[in-house]
Amino acid sequence: QARRLEGVDKNIWVEFVKLAATYSTVNLGQGFPDFPPPDFLKEAFTRALSGEKHMLHQYTRAFGHPPLVKILAQLFGKLLGRELDPMTNVMVTVGAYQALFCCFQAFVDEGDEVIIIEPFFDCYEPMVKMAGGTPVFIPLRPKAPKDGKLMSSADWQLDPAELASKFSERTKAIVLNSPNNPLGKVFSREELELIADLCVKHDALCISDEVYEWLVYDGKEHVRIASLRGMWDRTVSIGSAGKTFSVTGWKVGWTVGPNRLLQHLRTMHQNSVYHCATAAQEVVAQGFQREFERYGKPDSYFVQLPKEMQQKRDQLVQSLVAVGMKPIIPEGTYFLVADISEFKSDVPDVPNSDEPYDSRFAKWMVKNKVNASALFHRIYHGVFVPSLLAVLIRASSGGNTTSGQRPHPDPVLV
Ligand code: PMP
Ligand code: GLN
Repeated sequence: QARRLEGVDKNIWVEFVKLAATYSTVNLGQGFPDFPPPDFLKEAFTRALSGEKHMLHQYTRAFGHPPLVKILAQLFGKLLGRELDPMTNVMVTVGAYQALFCCFQAFVDEGDEVIIIEPFFDCYEPMVKMAGGTPVFIPLRPKAPKDGKLMSSADWQLDPAELASKFSERTKAIVLNSPNNPLGKVFSREELELIADLCVKHDALCISDEVYEWLVYDGKEHVRIASLRGMWDRTVSIGSAGKTFSVTGWKVGWTVGPNRLLQHLRTMHQNSVYHCATAAQEVVAQGFQREFERYGKPDSYFVQLPKEMQQKRDQLVQSLVAVGMKPIIPEGTYFLVADISEFKSDVPDVPNSDEPYDSRFAKWMVKNKVNASALFHRIYHGVFVPSLLAVLIRASSGGNTTSGQRPHPDPVLV
């Protein structure tokens, strides 16, 4: 075994997807919708597979199928307020996951530090370590809830002095994830400016994971850090068609950024994955073309999806309150974190184990409460959230997720 694999062998998804299949519970941990993708996308896929363009079954350009990089450059050019070159400012990846992996491999050397904001999407830490880097953690800290009110993800904030103290000459990059998985926090412009100023001051890169960019609720604005002063040149913005169009199984993602950074991502990509599924890229390009034409209009999927998801969020908040949890209302994403401290006496201790309470709680739910919605935990670095559980906003109707359908029909997929 190569040294780079030491300490990165455990994976929360592998463990819990398997548990979900074994106990036939609904998987509310892994971020994928239980409703179908939009018709326009399914129809485009059928056309792509059966149509005249048989070349869609063959290899395409390594760094992104031309129609896809063109429309991504057009759309993100508009959103970032600058002209983008589809060939050098955009690269398509196998999901946002590969985009993240390429970034850490391409920019992080032995001894480099990468700042990660807690709580965070689990893969950042092992990916930094595999590149030889050292993760440096900075927590979002909760403000005490106001009397009787539920907390919002906006109540979780960075302490500016604490954040500044994490930057040094060893800092290579900071990973930003807004909207944040799992809190659902949508960073405000002021919060992003704080991060941006520190990046500029310390000449650090920003790896900006924006896979939930369209899933923002209550009229909040998703601000792209690459659009802030001094940031374009040092930011790689990462997106996911899986999250954008509710097709997580297609694994189409992308990076957008300056050529000085993307050239290194291309080197990484051409020496590993080389290129991504052509037909899926073609269909995602058509989806974006449609959305580009309808941008901001009521029939845009980017307008409709968050509207529907916001209702589901509100239902889930009510259900969790009804069973005695204290949900933290997310401003965006599929996720919701809830305080489960009320249940401590119900969940048995595991003798001789230092397994944290959230993990024991989630397993107890899966094994003992299969007729209730199964809540799946994810462990985050840092002990400051020991009684918090992240669950997924997903129920497609009426909040009834008790039918026991399997997340994947075939446990081999685990
Ligand atoms: N970043 C975050 C924050 C995510 O939640 C996910 C998926 N859950 C990804 C990246 C990976 O996205 P993809 O499925 O496109 O690889
Ligand atoms: N994409 C999933 C999420 O957070 C899990 C990541 C994965 O599939 N490895 O929800």
